[in-house]
Amino acid sequence: MSATWNVDEFVKAAAVTVDELAGYVDESQRGLAPVLRRTPPAELAERLGLYSWIRTGGMTPDSYRDFLYDYLNEGTRLHHPAYLAHQVAPPDFPAALADFVHGAANNVMSIYEMGASAATVEFAVIRWMLGKVGFGAGGGGVLTHGGSLANLTALLAARARTAPEAWTDGVPPDLVLLAPPSAHYSLTRAAGILGMGARNVVPLPVDDLGRIDVARLPEVLDPARRPIALVADACATGTGLYDDLRGIGEFCAAHHIWFHVDGTHGASALLSDNHQHLLDGIELADSVVWDAHKMLRTSGVVAAVLTRREADLDAAFQQEAAYLFYGDQGFDQLRRTVEGTKAELGLKVFLNLAWRGERGMGDYVAAQYATAHRFWELAVSRPGFECPYEPESNIVCFRYGTGDQAALREQLMAEGSFHLSSTEIDGARHLRVTVMAPATDDRTLESLLDRIAETRPAATGH
Ligand SMILES: *Cc1c(COP(=O)(O)O)cnc(C)c1O
Repeated sequence: MSATWNVDEFVKAAAVTVDELAGYVDESQRGLAPVLRRTPPAELAERLGLYSWIRTGGMTPDSYRDFLYDYLNEGTRLHHPAYLAHQVAPPDFPAALADFVHGAANNVMSIYEMGASAATVEFAVIRWMLGKVGFGAGGGGVLTHGGSLANLTALLAARARTAPEAWTDGVPPDLVLLAPPSAHYSLTRAAGILGMGARNVVPLPVDDLGRIDVARLPEVLDPARRPIALVADACATGTGLYDDLRGIGEFCAAHHIWFHVDGTHGASALLSDNHQHLLDGIELADSVVWDAHKMLRTSGVVAAVLTRREADLDAAFQQEAAYLFYGDQGFDQLRRTVEGTKAELGLKVFLNLAWRGERGMGDYVAAQYATAHRFWELAVSRPGFECPYEPESNIVCFRYGTGDQAALREQLMAEGSFHLSSTEIDGARHLRVTVMAPATDDRTLESLLDRIAETRPAATGH
């Protein structure tokens, strides 16, 4: 049998894929199936026939259809109105098409000769993002496989500013990272990976909701220790609240500290006229990280690292130049990333933009933020529900009654009715709603509140 593509078979199998996905997304958006299933892995492997397929091969478009149906049906439905758990996008279809194209063409574009179009598309997307952040013509950027890698990359650039010798000589012992305790774990990890030691992440003073207390920032300055960067959240993973970027940025500028804005989730609010004020002062940052697979509706994973000065990013990996110009033949982005081979990440963002326009993308963000706010209004008007703050984004935290909040979440997941997440605020476990699916509406939110109130006895153990 030839190893070249049987193009007829491909066309059939692709048609099956489109057909099954269309049914799946349609059913999901209309909430006609459980939002998730929790079949134990051994049983699921059996149902999907995994080991037998691996042993014997021989899948055809027909048997693939059966497999794909079960595969999708047993997963988590991100387009479902009751999917309210994690900050992972229900992808829009143009981005899904980009994944398909990448899967076939595989133009891994970290060197220009491996994908001129893909590299150029990424460059255009980065220029667009730099413009949104307010970094202008002097800025630089690159797309990485996710926000965690993007944070690591930005902090490498930051370290290179404070201690350029660290790359060759090792990390001096006086380096610290300043970050709020609510910062995403990828930042503490980055400190570990960078060899600074996670213990040298100095917690910034915060209020009882975890927001950086700007007036108290001078407390963390210590002449014996050099901060490589100060991290602010836009917005914080747990609460969805934004730090005061302008106040923090001015403090950093006055003390010559690299200002890193983790806008992984919340930088997309720059696209909404009604919400961009939340990011006021972002242009003061030295580096910004912005995920597309959270609020720009691409699949996982795509994140941008953006720096105000392009040369700062070039210094991250201590190469002589980020872009290797071959006359007018383009550039290599390999020098700016941890990754060597890199997917066609820009195409996902680009196709969403090309289809929906910047305005359409901004409208999506605004709508999700508004729905979350509506949930808060509905929740605080009902007895037994407590919300510690008014939401600023599409993330809302709350408690119901005094019982075990985590058990409530488990129960909703077990019945497949709602997928929520949870977090700790000021030491107390809270339920957490992240409004990601465009299909989530007031009816969904009302029935969630009803369901929680009904399940109370089980949750509180009465
Ligand atoms: C999600 C998130 C990250 C991590 O991004 P990944 O793309 O999941 O690696 C980092 N910081 C914040 C604030 C986040 O919300």
